[in-house]
Amino acid sequence: MTLTAEGEYMNKLYFGTAGVPHSAPKPQTNIEGVKRIAELGLDCMEIEFTYGVRMTDIELRQVKQVALNRNIRLSVHAPYFINLNAHENDKVEASMLRLFQSARAAFLCGATDVAFHAAFNMGDPPEKVYETVKQRLLQVLEDLDKDNIKIRLRPELMGKSSQFGALNEVLRLADEVPGVAPCIDFAHWHARTGAFNTYDEFTTMLSQIKERLGEAALKEMHLHVAGIDYGKSGEKEHIDLRDSDFAFRELLQALRDFKVRGLVVCESPNLEEDALLLKRTFTELTG
Ligand SMILES: [Zn+2]
Repeated sequence: MTLTAEGEYMNKLYFGTAGVPHSAPKPQTNIEGVKRIAELGLDCMEIEFTYGVRMTDIELRQVKQVALNRNIRLSVHAPYFINLNAHENDKVEASMLRLFQSARAAFLCGATDVAFHAAFNMGDPPEKVYETVKQRLLQVLEDLDKDNIKIRLRPELMGKSSQFGALNEVLRLADEVPGVAPCIDFAHWHARTGAFNTYDEFTTMLSQIKERLGEAALKEMHLHVAGIDYGKSGEKEHIDLRDSDFAFRELLQALRDFKVRGLVVCESPNLEEDALLLKRTFTELTG
């Protein structure tokens, strides 16, 4: 079970956006973002460190306070420039540092989870990529532990076949490495496989997670949902749910039936519109 900033356990699905909602007042800081999330009636926000961890410790503590006051849950997305399977040493070190900095920032702002894109396959055999990513993750976790930073690292289910992060890979990491849990991106998996877009397929995924990681994993999930455009090699781009074929109602029904708890972060370009659509639809289902 996830210990949130207030020391409570997660007891529901929290719906929110990947980054500051578009309708937040300018300048669109993370603080304004959290305030807007609360006004919209949403429940969580993922802070996006897409191009680097660019918040001061003071700002991070301010966000934490604003979120606590409004009962908004936070998570963090690490920078995109991370490749734990990079072949050059300087790139490996920079990747590990970015992940460490993201985790430290997450801890300071009261978030419990860091989602990140772990690696590219670089043409290496899958088993070799897995071992390399695992060893480097263990090193980052050891560094975090030394600094007493308690955070969960969530390698993401990725949408392109060139990327490390197939379902069996992220579940295996979560199983074998304490401090690691999966970030299940349903749109990515749909784009990568061309399948996994029906109720039965969604429940198959949830059953697989339960079998591999135990029932508790379903009570502390970190999910990404969005519309998605895709081709032969997987993900092309995120699009709004109404423009995509993604069967979000069936997904929400599966989440409901499996009594899944945790964060549902919407990555559609229209952010809060789809986050609200997801929350509304889920509320209707649970009605
Ligand atoms: Zn991501």
